[in-house]
Amino acid sequence: MKRDGATTSLWQHNLPDYQPKNQPFPADKVFDVIVVGGGITGLTTALLLRKSGKTCVLAEAQTLGFGTTGGTTAHLNTLLDTDYRTIAEDFGEENARLVADITREAINLVRNHVEQYGIACGFEELPGYVLAQDEKQARDLDEIVEASQNAGLLAELVPDAPAPLPFRRAAVFDRQAQFHPTQYLLALAKAFEDAGGTLLTDCRVTKLDEGDILTVDTPQGQLRARNLIYATHTPPGLNILHFRCGPYRSYVIAVTLADESQYPDALVYDMQEPYHYYRTQEVDGRRYLVVGGEDHKTGHEENTEACFRRLEAHVRAHFDVTSVDFRWSSQYFENTDGLPYIGHLPGAGDNVFVATGFSGNGMTWGTASAIVLNELIVTGGSRYRALFAPGRVKPVAGFTTFVKEQVEVAKDFFSGWFSQSDIESLAELSHDEARVVNYQGTSIALYKDEAGKLHAVSPTCPHAKCAVAWNASEKSWDCPCHGSRFSPDGEMLTAPARTDLSPVDIREKVQL
Ligand SMILES: Cc1cc2nc3c(=O)[nH]c(=O)nc-3n(C[C@H](O)[C@H](O)[C@H](O)COP(=O)(O)OP(=O)(O)OC[C@H]3O[C@@H](n4cnc5c(N)ncnc54)[C@H](O)[C@@H]3O)c2cc1C
Repeated sequence: MKRDGATTSLWQHNLPDYQPKNQPFPADKVFDVIVVGGGITGLTTALLLRKSGKTCVLAEAQTLGFGTTGGTTAHLNTLLDTDYRTIAEDFGEENARLVADITREAINLVRNHVEQYGIACGFEELPGYVLAQDEKQARDLDEIVEASQNAGLLAELVPDAPAPLPFRRAAVFDRQAQFHPTQYLLALAKAFEDAGGTLLTDCRVTKLDEGDILTVDTPQGQLRARNLIYATHTPPGLNILHFRCGPYRSYVIAVTLADESQYPDALVYDMQEPYHYYRTQEVDGRRYLVVGGEDHKTGHEENTEACFRRLEAHVRAHFDVTSVDFRWSSQYFENTDGLPYIGHLPGAGDNVFVATGFSGNGMTWGTASAIVLNELIVTGGSRYRALFAPGRVKPVAGFTTFVKEQVEVAKDFFSGWFSQSDIESLAELSHDEARVVNYQGTSIALYKDEAGKLHAVSPTCPHAKCAVAWNASEKSWDCPCHGSRFSPDGEMLTAPARTDLSPVDIREKVQL
């Protein structure tokens, strides 16, 4: 199964790309809804809409699960990256209870799908443990547990934890869950098609013409509908949400252990900054410990291999590792104020929707988005509408710094971002190395592959004119501003860009 990176995730292993039913391209039909994007958000939303009686087409640019859904770790949580103490302080206690409600609804929805469609995806409800490792974290954990209880969750301090990790204080949160995300995704796709939904892969949506009837361009032709949902993880084009969502990368390894008793029978998290997340998953009869961490802002870490090395060293320090079987990294979008953006896309008509800003909880938020968007489209309202409205202005602590950071990154690049590297560095490029070089006043993003072939593209991201940075692990050019990603030859892998990086004819410009 294809994914948007060079490494292979545990969830791609032994799974084919989904082959949609061979239907004629629906050029003449006006659908109720076009869903753009075939990750967990798009597929869950499309299925719910279809079950609500809406005619629906889902268009995925590549293959189902190509985006972060193929590179996740698939914890399903009511416990979130933004803790309930912070949510209650910033949004009020009533809204904290609403957040707890929708996250529970999301986990229930996944369980119902697994039962209804008989999906073999290793879905399990498990407790989640949070481990505080110093006094400050322990005090924070006390408050988080209390705020979580106030929000209606089952949480308590406990003396033990089911993992060989040091801790000063531990808390358990009941009724979290885990599953195999791509097995689940492909089963949703089948359910959607069986229910009469239209599914198109290799179908990138490139342009939207607004009106009561929306028209989008795709390479296969135009699609028309009364509503459109961007389930693209971040919406394409330039939007205010790109200044409210920052792209981050997180690293994962799946290892096998010598001592069976070390596999946690729970979801486990420490409270470091960035935190580590641990769980066990059996795939094809083999058990894996899946551990994530080492997060950083996209494009801000030159040595991405070192991130994997630090993560592996951390795991080996606490677990008796036999082998590292899979390692991959993937991208998520951090929101500004602690909650995702689900609802009408700011700046677009009332019939254009979006779901983004999920931080590290997009299995839960992607599923929750489907619930909210289905309600908004089917009934016109939802009790969650205001809380998650993408147009909300919520100046909480950190907001100014966050937005300033996003805007300044963009401003820098708008006003001249040329690399200082010169042509000398080009000559020194080793195999499997990349660099942005400046040659005769032109910046060139150069990658010399393992066979010694040079791949040259413009380093200017077509989205907001920022400069891309090389990601050595996934062999991609990543944009630090809004998270667009491109292959060494410039092919767009990840939105919000709509087009590829411009090719550079290095033979004309560079004599090597
Ligand atoms: C390492 C890592 C671990 C994580 N672990 C967890 C976890 O344990 N639990 C959790 O809840 N969350 C986790 N997350 C977050 C979660 O995985 C994501 O938020 C979630 O997968 C996003 O799903 P999505 O469907 O919204 O987006 P994606 O899965 O990225 O899907 C978007 C799709 O849209 C397609 N697309 C883009 N542009 C277009 C276009 N113009 N036309 C057509 N298609 C287009 C893309 O090809 C892609 O397939 C993790 C994230 C990372 C990076």
